[in-house]
Amino acid sequence: MSVATSEMLKQHLIDPEVCIRCNTCEETCPVGAITHDSNNYVVDASKCNFCMDCISPCPTGSIDNWRVVKSAWGVDEQFGWSELPAQQDITPSATGGQAEAIDYEVQALIAEAHSGVGGKTIAPLSAAKPSVNLFNRDKPAVAIVTGNFRLTDEGVDNDVRHIILDFGDTRFPVLEGQSVGVVPPGLDDHGAPHRIRLYSIASPRHGERPNTNNIALTVKRDGAGLCSNYLCDLQKGDKVSVTGPFGATFLMPNDSSANIIMICTGTGSAPFRGFTEWRRRMMPDAPGRMLLFFGARRPEELPYFGPLQRVPETLLSKYFAYSRISGERKVYVQDRMREQSALLAGLLRKGATHIYVCGLKGMEQGVDVALDDICRGDGMTWRELREVMRTEGRYHVETY
Ligand code: NAP
Repeated sequence: MSVATSEMLKQHLIDPEVCIRCNTCEETCPVGAITHDSNNYVVDASKCNFCMDCISPCPTGSIDNWRVVKSAWGVDEQFGWSELPAQQDITPSATGGQAEAIDYEVQALIAEAHSGVGGKTIAPLSAAKPSVNLFNRDKPAVAIVTGNFRLTDEGVDNDVRHIILDFGDTRFPVLEGQSVGVVPPGLDDHGAPHRIRLYSIASPRHGERPNTNNIALTVKRDGAGLCSNYLCDLQKGDKVSVTGPFGATFLMPNDSSANIIMICTGTGSAPFRGFTEWRRRMMPDAPGRMLLFFGARRPEELPYFGPLQRVPETLLSKYFAYSRISGERKVYVQDRMREQSALLAGLLRKGATHIYVCGLKGMEQGVDVALDDICRGDGMTWRELREVMRTEGRYHVETY
């Protein structure tokens, strides 16, 4: 690393595995930060000012890559890359507290959420091309709240809510699996604007009802959480500043024969509501299967429990795991997966199968071990298969 600094910093990078070397970014960059050699297009960290002008013209999304680093990679190092480096451990314990000092920018949050794919954040080959970074803190899209509904039973603390944001005449194109940023109003104790919070979009690309210009968010109230309380308390007609859309890889394959295995906990179900709705509306007779492994403490805390029951099994096979039902043993999603070992192994043998994991960071390892066991039981090696699936954009992880 040649550009040394004393603080953690965010670095903009271009994914050499996805970039088609079309020169669009270099032509677009207003500060000459993007350059290339015969191998790669790269971003000079000493020039990049994060204006984002290069993001939306990029035809592949390869431009939308970010890492939080202690010292930036120089252009010469990037010229030699054949793949992006993994996100380094930037937790406070790993950085001597420095990570607490930085304002976690949205892209760094996304990089961290996707770190479970070992830096190989690759969209499914058939995925539609996403629009990204159209709106930012300085130029947010202003949405109007048109609905705010409780998803969990009245007795449940920390309610989960389904919040609908309408963009009116503002073009805000999204794909299932993308996220948006919410700018909480007001200033923090130091007089600085609050951090932007990220939420997955819980609706399909053409809105809560077909051809409406709105999105839904699934938000769990967190006792002291500034943004979750702000969102959960919104009333119809309130205005919300929204940034994004973000995310160019955690996307659906546009292939009706693709098998989609979705594994989530709690509000990690948000993108999978979008996935399910899109397939139900556009490909109701798709030959590819959709499976949902969904973990919650109790049925009363499971977002979308009622509507999910009504989705026919032919479209979506549902496996619920409850961890805190009184008198019953704790069941996690990975336990339900093990119960479906034969089915999952059969699907994993197929090249058209995609896995999506979304929710608590803690479940990543348990799911990984379960897949390892399931593969071993069927004569496959998960470590090898996982690498193939990552490289082919068929293994996706978004955990917080
Ligand atoms: P939660 O209610 O705290 O937990 C859901 C379930 O996961 C519980 O049954 C819990 O069991 C179980 N669980 C805990 N540790 C686990 C492990 N190691 N392996 C498997 N299951 C485990 O969930 P939540 O509060 O809704 O949080 C969901 C997560 O999704 C958050 O981290 C959130 O940031 C993230 N997320 C949210 C969105 C969004 O748009 N809102 C999008 C993507 C991701 P216990 O009874 O043991 O606790």
